[in-house]
Amino acid sequence: MQLLDGKAISSQIKAEIKEEVEKWVAGGGKKPHLAAILVGTDGASETYVASKIRSCEEIGFSSTLLRFEPTISEAELLEAVASLNNDPDVDGFIVQLPLPAHISENTIMEAVDPAKDVDGFHPVNVGKMCKGLPAYISATPFGILEMIIRAGIETSGKHCVVVGRSQIVGLPMSILMQRNSYPGNCTVTITHSKTQNLKEICQSADILIAALGRADFIKADYVKEGAVVIDVGITRVVDPAKKSGYSIKGDVDFNDVAPKASYITPVPGGVGLMTICGLLTNTFKAAKKEIYS
Ligand code: NAP
Repeated sequence: MQLLDGKAISSQIKAEIKEEVEKWVAGGGKKPHLAAILVGTDGASETYVASKIRSCEEIGFSSTLLRFEPTISEAELLEAVASLNNDPDVDGFIVQLPLPAHISENTIMEAVDPAKDVDGFHPVNVGKMCKGLPAYISATPFGILEMIIRAGIETSGKHCVVVGRSQIVGLPMSILMQRNSYPGNCTVTITHSKTQNLKEICQSADILIAALGRADFIKADYVKEGAVVIDVGITRVVDPAKKSGYSIKGDVDFNDVAPKASYITPVPGGVGLMTICGLLTNTFKAAKKEIYS
């Protein structure tokens, strides 16, 4: 079993981006600027945004955090989005999800200028990705692809099973794994909560990508000997032994599954750290106007 070590891979990617940014700025290029909108005080969202901002500082980007009370109206949030769309210094921005129930996430996502949509959630970027055109690929799928590339994992002709069909992880992941390129050329099965024979389908996966948000759901009997197992899940579970009162669990029962896997991602220390790399890479592309001129 080989560990797909998100900590090591993401550190390497960040060091590479940092070096490229230094060269870019030294050559007269604009310092990349990522902005984030955070609504409310959800603990997990606070942690994710803080980590994104910290990563910007580490690699030489500018960053801006706009915070709003959870009572903000949809119209007011749309104004904030418009202000970032129109700010020439901001190359890309994210609206941290989830949003309060009274605000439509789709309405907000669709209001983001596709050229600044470094999370890759806007329908224009999703559509372009589906057609294989240059686009911002959403950060988590991007991070997973990068892990596969850096580990040199063969994907062509393999059966890839994706558990979960969310718009931000499962669905784009399934599209990317079937593309006629590397990583890709998989035969993909996408599954969800209504899938009847999930265990049997997972057992036939050469590459199993779990993104369902159920702690320790995937056990050894779901996994074929020698499979590549990628765990996207991040669930907080109560843990009185921890100072914080909780621990972070993936969707895969790591200790149970690892002995059967050829490669496996840990949680924490796996896909989550790669997601930030996807966001930083997209922001640098935005600053260089690589996708939208
Ligand atoms: P989501 O929007 O809640 O989607 C979950 C998907 O899993 C849905 O398609 C759902 O099916 C399916 N599902 C739920 N229970 C299932 C079951 N028992 N069997 C089969 N399918 C099941 O979640 P998400 O946003 O994709 O996130 C998934 C997990 O990844 C969460 O733990 C989240 O925190 C984590 N995440 C991590 C990162 C990262 O950077 N590592 C990034 C994003 C998300 P239905 O469609 O039928 O409801």
